[in-house]
Formats: sequence, C-alpha cells, structure tokens
Amino acid sequence: MVGGSVVARPIVPRIIEGRWLRRRRWVALSLMLLFAALPFVTIGGAPAILLDVAARRFHFFGATFLPTDGVLLMFLLLTIFAGILLVTALVGRAWCGWACPQTVYMDFLFRPLERWVLGAAAKKGELSGRRLLLLTLYAALSVMLGNLFLSYFVGYQAVWRWMQASPTEAWTPFLVMAVTAGLVFFDFAYFREQTCTVVCPYARLQSVLLDPASDIIAYDVGRGEPRGLGKRRDDLGSCVDCNACVTACPTGIDIRNGLQLECIACAQCVDACDAIMDRTGQARGLIRYATQLELTGGPTKARRLRPRVLLYAGLTLALLATLVVLITGRAPAEVTVLRGTTMPWVLQEGKIRNQLRVKVANHSLEPERYSISTSGLAEVELIAPENPLPVAADGQATTTIFVLAPPSAFRAGRASLTLQVTGARGFQSQTPVTLLGPMERSAP
Ligand code: SF4
Ligand code: SF4
Repeated sequence: MVGGSVVARPIVPRIIEGRWLRRRRWVALSLMLLFAALPFVTIGGAPAILLDVAARRFHFFGATFLPTDGVLLMFLLLTIFAGILLVTALVGRAWCGWACPQTVYMDFLFRPLERWVLGAAAKKGELSGRRLLLLTLYAALSVMLGNLFLSYFVGYQAVWRWMQASPTEAWTPFLVMAVTAGLVFFDFAYFREQTCTVVCPYARLQSVLLDPASDIIAYDVGRGEPRGLGKRRDDLGSCVDCNACVTACPTGIDIRNGLQLECIACAQCVDACDAIMDRTGQARGLIRYATQLELTGGPTKARRLRPRVLLYAGLTLALLATLVVLITGRAPAEVTVLRGTTMPWVLQEGKIRNQLRVKVANHSLEPERYSISTSGLAEVELIAPENPLPVAADGQATTTIFVLAPPSAFRAGRASLTLQVTGARGFQSQTPVTLLGPMERSAP
C-alpha cells in the first residue's frame, strides 16, 4: 500500500459523467432521502432511530435499549463491527465511496452546488460575489443538515421547538444548534476530503481488513505500462498518461501508484479512464473494480467464500442471532429491589420494619401500573405509598416500601420472603428478599 502525495487544496475534481457516477448518484439521492425521513418515522409508536443520550435511552428499529441493557448494546455494536469487517473483506471500501455521509453529501450536494454557483471559477480561491453566495448557501445547508443530525439525538419535535425559541430564552439549545451547524459547515466548506484522508480511522484499518481477494479500485499496471502519449503505441501500454484519472479524483491521488489509504473507492477515476479508453479506441477497464490477486495474474473471479470471509460471516451471523434472541427474550419489565439507605431495621408497634426500594423499568411502549405484594412469610404487613406503581412507557420509576414482620419470623437476624411485582398486562416478577431483624427474639 503506497502513501498518497501532498496535494494542493482545495481539490476541485473534474466530473466525468459515466456509468459509476450515475449509479452512485441514485444511491446517494436515496440515502439523503432516507437520512432526512428517518427522524420522522415511528415503529410501534417509538421513533425508528433515536439516540437519546440525555435520557440514556436508544430506540433502534423497534428495539429500545435502556442503561440496564448494556449487554444488548454491546452485542449491537459488536454485530455492526463484525458486519463492517465482512463488507470490507468482500467489497473493499464500498462504504466510503457509496454510502458514507461524508462522501454522499460532499460529492452529491456540496460539490454540485459549488460547480453550479462558481462555474468555471471553481478553481480560483479569490473571494468573489459568487463565492460569497456559495458560502451563504453552504451555511443554510449546514444549518439544515445540523438540525437533521440533532433530530437523531433529541427528536425532531425538540429541534422544532428549539428552532422556534428565541436565542435569549433558550441559549443552550441555540448554542447546540449553532455548534453543530458550524461543524458541518467547517467540514464541507473547508475540511472536505481531509475528513477521509486525515481523520477517519476506517481508512487506516484498510491494510488489516483487506486481503488480495477483496474488490478494490485498481489500475491494471500490466496493461497500462509503459504509459505514454504518442500515436505509435506498439511499445506503449494502454495508459496515454492523460492524467484524467488524477484530475477526477476527489482526494487528489494518482491511482496508478497503487492502492492508497486516501482512496475512498468512489470510482470517479474509473469513469474518467473509461472515457479516455473510448476516445482512443481501446477496451474499457484499465482502471476498474478488481482484486489484487487478479491484477497479479491470479484468477479473474476471486473466491468469495474464502476463510476470512467465512469467519467474518459466521461471526456476524452468530452475533446477530444472539442479539435477536436477547431482544425477543427480554422481559417487558425489569424489577430491582434494593435495601433502604436508613437503619437496616427498626421496631415499630412490636414489629420489625425493613425499608426497601423497588425500581421498575417498563420496557414496553405503553404506560403500565405495577402492583407490589409479598408472599412466603406469615403475618407480614406491606406499606407501599404508591401501589400500584405507575411507570411511563419505556420509562422507569422507583418507590420506597416498608415491610413489617413479627420478631418471631427471624432466625439468626434474618427472614426470607418473596416480593411480587405484577403488571396489568400479565407481567409478573418474583424477587427473593432477605429481611434483617434482631439476632435474638427481642427488640434491638
Ligand atoms: S483513486 Fe479513484 S476511486 Fe480512489 S478516491 Fe480517487 S477517484 Fe476515487
Ligand atoms: S485516465 Fe487512464 S489513460 Fe489517462 S492517465 Fe489515468 S490511467 Fe492513464
């Protein structure tokens, strides 16, 4: 893998209309539409995706993850990670070139806008009226995208409220929106392809994730070299050294130098080179999707089912299956019983009183009322100020209860009973509880 050269910025790639650009455009438009629509989509009454960090609650396509669901979240992240390994082993950096929001918005929104506003002046860096217009449009788009992005974290209703409030009344939301929009503006107006080439860690993992049988965008050295211009091509390869692939590259690299971490697999060099091949009457595909194996004389159809792919596929499927089992087998509520923070026990009207705290997490998308009762110990009295305990949909509530038992119930300072929590829609939990009391059958 060869490192890229230092490139003059800003890079303004030449756009060559070709089959790959057309395909990518359709994919990008669909993804932009999906990104804009998802915050407004609900599944079973909950947002399709809402990563509510403040409330520590994540909604993900019908599944809700609470802070108590750390194991589920871990499996979700591991499944995504294993999926990335699998996709990269199979089709290289297809994610970067086809689906990453950075590429999608840069290549199919911000750059087209730049070409439309600046026209032929796009390469000049001077501050002109057109450039000011472009920056204004960039700023408007950044606010829009920033607010859309925030909808995934606070919900579109909250963003809408924030947008209507005066900055003096709600300066924190205003600041959050301003900083988010500012970061989007900085990224797409200034930092651009450097997000991929300098910041993104995925590019750096490329050498580990790819193998010689992975699909990449590659220059066919055997066919192209020796490169050169000239009418008599008997001693020359197919490359006419026109540099069209370099000027079309949004990260400013020369793919003829080999696979580089700056290559985001956008295929713009493929379209550029195919156009040159057409013009010079040569077969297309001097730059193409290929495997390193194929370019070094190996089989043209690399084996898809190789050990690495099978391993990643098996891992992804196993993690996904575990995640599904865990989600579907998850109880609609979770009960935690904790001892009170005051004295372990007190004597009240001749009985031993224990204070307990009962926390109920309602995982369902309906509000629920939970009844608390005890069993397994005779002559027990339960004092529960909130019984049944109301818990909001997908929420949690904690209540303090008191359990009074006769001193005769205690053996060596302990007595056991079962605390039952019953939901109106059939949920039932039984938690064994140990009450503390006097070591002897006497008052403390
Ligand atoms: S080398 Fe080709 S595929 Fe890679 S980033 Fe440049 S134009 Fe895109
Ligand atoms: S576009 Fe094709 S022919 Fe032109 S320099 Fe690049 S590889 Fe060579």
